[in-house]
Amino acid sequence: EKENTRENNVAKIKVVVRKRPLNKKELAKKEDDIVTVYDNAYLTVHEPKLKVDLTAYVEKHEFCFDAVLDEHVTNDEVYRTTVEPIIPTIFQRTKATCFAYGQTGSGKTFTMQPLPLRAAEDLVRLLHQPIYRNQRFKLWLSYFEIYGGKLFDLLSDRKKLCMREDGRQQVCIVGLQEFEVSDVQIVKEFIEKGNAARTTGSTGANEESSRSHAILQLAIKKHSEVKESRRNNDGNESKGGKLGAEINKSLLALKECIRALDNDQIHIPFRGSKLTEVLRDSFVGNSKTVMISCISPNAGSCEHTLNTLRYADRVK
Ligand code: ADP
Repeated sequence: EKENTRENNVAKIKVVVRKRPLNKKELAKKEDDIVTVYDNAYLTVHEPKLKVDLTAYVEKHEFCFDAVLDEHVTNDEVYRTTVEPIIPTIFQRTKATCFAYGQTGSGKTFTMQPLPLRAAEDLVRLLHQPIYRNQRFKLWLSYFEIYGGKLFDLLSDRKKLCMREDGRQQVCIVGLQEFEVSDVQIVKEFIEKGNAARTTGSTGANEESSRSHAILQLAIKKHSEVKESRRNNDGNESKGGKLGAEINKSLLALKECIRALDNDQIHIPFRGSKLTEVLRDSFVGNSKTVMISCISPNAGSCEHTLNTLRYADRVK
């Protein structure tokens, strides 16, 4: 029984890599595309190198992931590979999480932005199906930002929030406003409102945006007789999905958590950062988590790309 502990407590993370196309600037500079994707699961990075005598050569690095999406893959296909398969998890009372990381300009925003709306579309459609219709489920949305180690509600004038753990080791964000969303148009309006309230934008400074992590949560709840766990204060039962957008920085704390989970350590350093604290219940138990590693294809980004891929390789 003990041997199974790890399987029971540690969620497997699905790792999907997405390569973006060369952009205009890179094309104008005639930069090489050094990333080759094949069979939707493998990729090779051709690293340009110089020998001591200055003769040029290429070092090849090969990787394999759960899925590798090349520059021709549409956002719709991204949705079908990443979020769509974990939607049913939410109906089984477990958390489903999707987050993206990668260097600035690698496509995190482009990749993440359409996902919550697509997820909401599917959830609304499922809630209208006969098996769920009678259970009076409602879809709820919340959206917050982690910036400088602090939490801000993006849908309530950036109200400062705090986090605590309930008795069942569930992460609870105190004061976070949740809104009932009955149709997709309303979801769209909330997402736009939240995006406008983010730390980024106005100055357009990458420095700022790379320190900001936005987390959009969709939860299904129903009023029911009080019985099981995962009830919140007002007697609603809740099931949830998280879509963490634009997780940029080095994610050192997350890495430490993954390493600890890897080594069967009893103490997992979730408190290493606000981000890992918020995401902690995404990494344990039956939770389903998808990580999208975004990479740039140009030779000038080679080092960043290899770092992203090596990190992704450790997580899978
Ligand atoms: P990040 O959020 O990682 O800093 P962005 O998502 O802002 O990066 O992407 C940088 C630029 O590249 C944007 O102009 C975006 O539209 C473009 N881009 C990113 N990924 C793709 C893609 N798969 N196809 C086409 N354009 C892309």
